[in-house]
Amino acid sequence: MNLDFDAADLAFRDEVREFFAGSVPEEWKTRVRAGLRLSPEDLIAWQKRLAARGWGAPTWPVEHGGTGWTPTQLYIFWSEAARVDAPMQFHQGLELIGPIIYTYGNAEQKARYLPRIISADDWWCQGYSEPGAGSDLAALRTRADRDGDDYVLNGQKMWTSYAQCAQHMFTLVRTSQETRRQDGISLILVPMDAEGLRVRPIDTMDEKYHTNEVFLDDVRVPVANLIGEEGKGWTYGKVLLDRERMVAAGNAIFLTQMARGIRQAASRKVGGVALIDRPVVAAKIGQFEIEVAALQGMVLRLMDDQARGEDSGPRGSMVKLRWSQLLQAGTALWVGALGPEAAHFAGLDGTPTSPDLHYPMQGAIYSRVTSIYGGSSEIQHDIIARRALGL
Ligand SMILES: Cc1cc2nc3c(=O)[nH]c(=O)nc-3n(C[C@H](O)[C@H](O)[C@H](O)COP(=O)(O)OP(=O)(O)OC[C@H]3O[C@@H](n4cnc5c(N)ncnc54)[C@H](O)[C@@H]3O)c2cc1C
Repeated sequence: MNLDFDAADLAFRDEVREFFAGSVPEEWKTRVRAGLRLSPEDLIAWQKRLAARGWGAPTWPVEHGGTGWTPTQLYIFWSEAARVDAPMQFHQGLELIGPIIYTYGNAEQKARYLPRIISADDWWCQGYSEPGAGSDLAALRTRADRDGDDYVLNGQKMWTSYAQCAQHMFTLVRTSQETRRQDGISLILVPMDAEGLRVRPIDTMDEKYHTNEVFLDDVRVPVANLIGEEGKGWTYGKVLLDRERMVAAGNAIFLTQMARGIRQAASRKVGGVALIDRPVVAAKIGQFEIEVAALQGMVLRLMDDQARGEDSGPRGSMVKLRWSQLLQAGTALWVGALGPEAAHFAGLDGTPTSPDLHYPMQGAIYSRVTSIYGGSSEIQHDIIARRALGL
């Protein structure tokens, strides 16, 4: 793969740079710089701005409303966004269910759902995990029983992030009992305002509201909400998990933002000397930056595989694993560099209590989840051992 930008890439970079220069409010940048995530309302506003520019779905093909960008263009887009402290786009609709709908959905489903994902008129949540079915997802027990033109859903989903602001949930449910557990699973779209669906918040230690339990009691959903074939949900679900690792690729590029935050924090003087001027601190930060740069190389290869429709093999797992390790290491480094000031917590909705403060502590606490969700680190190690090492 040629890593040099050609003239067209450079022109594209200028175009992206110009757009970002005028489109990201200072308040959002301050939040991103401070290590905070945007509120759902702001993320929706950001998505709408990108959609208005025609860049709402950077990873999608043109025929489904995407940009059709090459991996290089995608890399430029994400790198430029990270450079100016622009927020990342919210991924559950864009990167998880959207591609499944355009790959396996029927014409009606594509027409109904895809444009509203791009325009952020619909927010999606992912209802996969259940109590007792996380890493071992095939153990899921939520049932969808056919009754005329409806499915009737009963069961409980767990850790359903952002269910509180979603209009739809894509969910894996059991439509039949088969000897091979995976064969009885289907992928169904559920409107969040359906009767019998209840969302209960889960408190998390970073003191922000992200995630929920979702209870389904006799929830009726039209059969038209089934994606693809009944009983094939596991196949679609696996594609979706692979796509989740692509999300890690975008996240990995945004680690450069954190690297800048760490450097800035390390300009703090202790005993009259800036931390960054102490060899031990400088070496730690330098090591982190080198590892972030090395991960970018792996990300580029992953994106190239994805664009050519090639199976990325274990590379997706490697990127996901490494990204989560670096995110956890980076936030810890940032907290250490800030010292006592890192003890500040932003408001419950993520509002900074002061524009001058940074809040990596909340990010550091939240970062623990990155080695659990989207396939835990142990599961990623297992995949790498099997697919890369043939164990
Ligand atoms: C904050 C948060 C947000 C989340 N958001 C969502 C969401 O929006 N939608 C959704 O569907 N899910 C979501 N999840 C769920 C997440 O995907 C699961 O937590 C994850 O798959 C792990 O499952 P589990 O919690 O049941 O743990 P378990 O699967 O019970 O794992 C417990 C421990 O055992 C280890 N382990 C399990 N199996 C193996 C094995 N075969 N080999 C070695 N070690 C193993 C795991 O690595 C882990 O350390 C979220 C989770 C969290 C914490």
